[in-house]
Amino acid sequence: TEPVVIIGGGLAGCEAAWQIARAGSRVRLYDMKPHRFSPAHGSPDLAELVCSNSLRSNDPHAAVGLLKHEMRRLQSLIMQAADATAVPAGKALAVDRARFSATITAALADHPRITIVREEINDLPEPRDGRVLILATGPLTSEALAAALAELTGSARLYFYDAIAPIIHHESLDLSIVYQKSRYDDGPGDYLNCPLDHRSYERFITELAGAACVPLREFEDPKYFEGCLPIEVIRARGDNTLRFGPMKPVGLEHPQTGALPYAVVQLRKENRQGTLYNMVGFQTKLTYPEQKRIFRLIPGLEQAEFARLGSIHRNTFLRAPEVLLPSLQLRCRPDILIAGQLSGVEGYVESTAIGLLAGLNGYRLATGRAPLMPPPGTGLGALITHLTETDPRHFQPSNINFGLFPPWPKKVPKRLRGSTRAQQSDEALTDWLATHTID
Ligand code: FAD
Repeated sequence: TEPVVIIGGGLAGCEAAWQIARAGSRVRLYDMKPHRFSPAHGSPDLAELVCSNSLRSNDPHAAVGLLKHEMRRLQSLIMQAADATAVPAGKALAVDRARFSATITAALADHPRITIVREEINDLPEPRDGRVLILATGPLTSEALAAALAELTGSARLYFYDAIAPIIHHESLDLSIVYQKSRYDDGPGDYLNCPLDHRSYERFITELAGAACVPLREFEDPKYFEGCLPIEVIRARGDNTLRFGPMKPVGLEHPQTGALPYAVVQLRKENRQGTLYNMVGFQTKLTYPEQKRIFRLIPGLEQAEFARLGSIHRNTFLRAPEVLLPSLQLRCRPDILIAGQLSGVEGYVESTAIGLLAGLNGYRLATGRAPLMPPPGTGLGALITHLTETDPRHFQPSNINFGLFPPWPKKVPKRLRGSTRAQQSDEALTDWLATHTID
C-alpha cells in the first residue's frame, strides 16, 4: 500500500497530496465527503472554500501575498488552481469557488500516484514501519477523530474554540502614554499598560455598548467559557464590570508618577522579539471596523496597527508549541504530521502553506530522508516560528503577518518594509532551493 496516508482532503490535505505525488511517492487521500459533511462543508468536491471566495491580497509586498509567491515557486497546486480560476477582485486573489475545487479534485483524481478514498476515518491507526500519516482534517475535524487526537496528545492540548484577542504592532504604540509594568511587580516585566481616566473609560464603554458584532453561525454555540468571555458580553453585565475584570488597574500605578489609572488595558508581549503585543483579555466578536474604531479610542492606541483583530470561532486546533516539532511531526508520534488549520495557523492560504510543508516532509520521511525546515525570513518560516516558538500558555491560531518575521536588524522606513521583506524572502528561498533538493 501507499507509504503516505493523508486524512482530510481540504486545502491542506490536497496540497500535501500533490507535493508528495509530484516528488515521486504514491499517496492515499481520505475524505469523508460526500458521505458526511462538516457543518460548514457542502460540496462533494475536495478543497472546498467554506466561506469567502477570497484568498486575500495578491500583492507580494503584503505578508499573505508574499506567502502566495513562495508557494507558487514551490509548484503549489492550490495556487495554480487559484490563478487559473481567478475572478476580478482588485488587489485580492478571489476565485470562482466551484471551478477552483473542481480543478483541484480533477488534478488529484487524474494523478497516477494518488488514490482518493471517500471515507470517514474515526481512529488514528497504529504506527507501521515506513508509513507516514498526515492529519489535515481542519477546524471542523469530525468528533471521533478529534477524540482520538485528544487522547493521543492529552485533551488539554486540543482546543475546540479559538478566543482571539487583537494583536498590535509594537512600532505603532504611543510610547509617551503606554508604560511598562507587571501587576504587583516592581520590575518592568513583559507587560505594557494603556491608562484610562474616568472620562476615557466612560467613552470606551459607551461606544462598546452600541458596537456591531459578527453574528454567530448556526453551529456555533453562544455559551462562552466564563474565563474567556468576549469584552462586549462583560460590558453588557454592567458599567464597572470591565474595570473589575480585564481592565482592572490594581497594582498598575504609573512607575514615574505613582498615579493609579481609573482602568487599564494591558498589552502582553506576543513573541520573543517583542514586535507584537496582545490585548490581554480582549477576545471579541465585534466586527473588524468596529474593533479598529473603538480600540483606537484607548489612550496610547490612537495610531495602533493591528497584526490581527479579535474573533471567537468554532475551531479545532492543537497547542502546537507543546506538541509539534518544526518539521510538523507530532513529538509523541513522529510518524504523524499535522497539516492545515489543525496545526494552529489561521486562513485558507496559511492552511495550504502548512499542507505544502507537511507534504514535502511527509515525502522525505517516507523515503528515509531528513525533514526540511523553511528558512528564516520567508513566510513559510514565519508560520513555523509561530507554531513552535510562541509561549504555549497563550497560543492561539494566527494568520501570516510581518510581526512573525525576524526583527529588523536596523530601522527600515514604513513604506519600504513590505518590499524589503519580499526581496529578503525571495533571496532566502532561492538559496534554500539551491542548497536543498526538495525531492
Ligand atoms: P478544511 O479545508 O476544512 O479540510 C478538512 C477536510 O477534512 C474536509 O474536507 C473534511 O470533509 C475532512 N474531514 C474532517 N474530518 C474527517 C475525518 N474524520 N475523516 C475524513 N475526512 C475528514 N479562512 C479564510 O482564509 N477565509 C475565510 O473566509 C474562512 N472562513 C471560515 C469559515 C468557517 C466556518 C471556518 C470553520 C473556517 C474558516 N476559515 C477561513 C479558516 C480556514 O482557513 C479554513 O477552514 C480552511 O479551509 C482550513 O483548511 P484545512 O485544509 O485545514 O481544512
